[in-house]
Amino acid sequence: MRQRPRGRLTLAFVKASPESQLRLLELADLDTELGRLGHRRRIMPENAELAQLSERAAKVRDAITIADTNLADLDRELARAEKDVDQVRVRIVRDNQRLDAGQVSNARELESLQNEVTSLRRRQGDLEEGVLELMERRESAQALRDGAGAEAETVGGDEAAAAARRDAAVAEIDEQEAKAAAARAAIARDVPADLLALYDKIRASSGLGAAPLRRGQCGGCREMLSTVELNEVRAAAPDEVIRHEECRRILVRTADSGL
Ligand SMILES: [Zn+2]
Repeated sequence: MRQRPRGRLTLAFVKASPESQLRLLELADLDTELGRLGHRRRIMPENAELAQLSERAAKVRDAITIADTNLADLDRELARAEKDVDQVRVRIVRDNQRLDAGQVSNARELESLQNEVTSLRRRQGDLEEGVLELMERRESAQALRDGAGAEAETVGGDEAAAAARRDAAVAEIDEQEAKAAAARAAIARDVPADLLALYDKIRASSGLGAAPLRRGQCGGCREMLSTVELNEVRAAAPDEVIRHEECRRILVRTADSGL
């Protein structure tokens, strides 16, 4: 769109009735609302929360895997240790049976067998102590596994709750967005095509296509217009489309422009 400069204000080549220009302000409000909704969708706190929870869930899963492996290792060690105890116990029983049955008459053999039983009893004691220690370690490992399991349940519950809140927020944004988009489409149908094209072009580059002139101030960039600029606005015909040089937006005259 070519423009001819005139002071610090620009008159667009497009001309439009004051009514059409005022409709741009309704469009601008709806576009602001749509932008706000899009921003809300992007920065939804539930998404950050869900990302954090999923990180926590991954850590808990790792902890469960480690705890399960640890438990399996301890179970294997425990089975081996219990088997060792059994073997010693069996040998003691057998030796005692031989002693009780009076099968051994040779004094040296008898002494050696009695010594063996003594040392086997000592070994049994050591092995049983080892079993007890393993059982204690297994108990601690099980407690860790139980803790991780409970944590996984908590995280899972938190995740479900956050997802439900996120879904509700998304549904609300969807609904408001659909409403604003429908209202925008209805207004856009009433705005002449060339004015709408200019508005959309400015909006694409600056985020806001039109702003009201109120009490001598541009509602887009909040700059006060100079006396020279206000005089130019006063001199412009009502169907001239004025652009604020400062922010390039279409400056729409209102009943409250302060002219
Ligand atoms: Zn401005």
